[in-house]
Amino acid sequence: MARRIGSRYTAHQILGRGSAGTVWLGEGPEGPVAIKLLREDLSSDQELVGRFVQERTALLGLEHPHVVSVRDLVVDGNDLALVMDLVRGTDLRTRLDRERRLAPEAAVAIAADVADGLAAAHAAGVVHRDVKPENVLLDMQGPLGPGGSHRALLTDFGVAKLIDTPRRTRASKIIGTPDYLAPEIVEGLPPRAAVDIYALATVLYELLAGFTPFGGGHPGAVLRRHVTEMVVPLPGIPDELWQLLVQCLAKAPASRLRASELAARLRELLPMLAGMPPLDVDEPDTDPAEETAEELSGAAPAAGQPVRRRGAVPLVPGAKPSDSNRDTHTSMRVPAPDELAGGAHGTARAPRAAGAPRPGSARNRAVTRRRRLTLAVAATLLAAAGLATWLTTTDDTPPPPPDTENSAPAVP
Ligand code: ADP
Repeated sequence: MARRIGSRYTAHQILGRGSAGTVWLGEGPEGPVAIKLLREDLSSDQELVGRFVQERTALLGLEHPHVVSVRDLVVDGNDLALVMDLVRGTDLRTRLDRERRLAPEAAVAIAADVADGLAAAHAAGVVHRDVKPENVLLDMQGPLGPGGSHRALLTDFGVAKLIDTPRRTRASKIIGTPDYLAPEIVEGLPPRAAVDIYALATVLYELLAGFTPFGGGHPGAVLRRHVTEMVVPLPGIPDELWQLLVQCLAKAPASRLRASELAARLRELLPMLAGMPPLDVDEPDTDPAEETAEELSGAAPAAGQPVRRRGAVPLVPGAKPSDSNRDTHTSMRVPAPDELAGGAHGTARAPRAAGAPRPGSARNRAVTRRRRLTLAVAATLLAAAGLATWLTTTDDTPPPPPDTENSAPAVP
């Protein structure tokens, strides 16, 4: 079922579906391409189409071996499409789902590739803002890298700015994916390059551990952990690698490494990690009732012992780690300071403010119920949104009127 996209492209077969639209295997004047056809509700938004055209230069300008290049933008009738390099392979989420954890050498090689791609983007003034395994594609046709890993390319550069209009996302809303959101975003600060470093360190932790450092449970609880909790050491992880992770997961953006430095430091570690098996880590237990004195003391668990996040408490009882935290959301509100300071069980170790209810008191339970209600409302909004992966630049000028057909050639 071939389908014409603009005057230059034909879409042949669906490669995958994302939250922003459908990705097709297509053909253009220069050979096979991937065509991301945006969802109809996005492509029928005139303001968004205008921005799409306006942002053409930024979208088309990124050329790097570890970035999936956008070759062309097509606005044609009701179709709004991004024409991208075709990557013959799979995404990192699929590989992670299959293998659960990667050997440190392969995990670090992939993270170094992504860091290289980010360095190029940041040098061009572009912040990705939604780095996560779903947005890392693995090129399975190219030569294998360290640890048998395939070349990794960061994708989904190009649309965040378009979607992030004042009308779609007010200042109080968050774009991103809860598990990978840097604390400064949760606190309402504008996203700078360091948010990508935090997200990439989260991805690397996930590749090594099989779970994200602050994920699990209600999205509101995940956001709070980013701001208030310290990452728990992974048993058996080489110290140099752990120090890099800790530095890049720092709460203060200025303390994190820059992308080029991170890439170089990761590659330096590769020889040392050669042949090392995946870490022996059990899934974390997020039940506060099972927190032990040892965990509260912050001691690193022994190899083979389950990692427990200190104070990691789902605010909604029974919430599962598989909740929608890995989807990109645009209608998540920025939590209020008191919500960030501690949840239902006072897990954030924040000192109790004067006049604040004592944990376990009737007043505290009422406050807790109110917070749960607020977070449940946020979750409902969250489920309703589900817009996909967006990237941003810092430019915010209004869009020009859209062309009816606009198919721009790739920037050389
Ligand atoms: P999302 O919008 O949720 O980020 P995408 O729309 O980017 O997801 O991608 C959906 C799927 O399409 C991916 O999982 C991948 O399998 C496939 N895909 C995306 N981009 C490309 C590409 N450039 N080359 C090959 N396959 C791709």
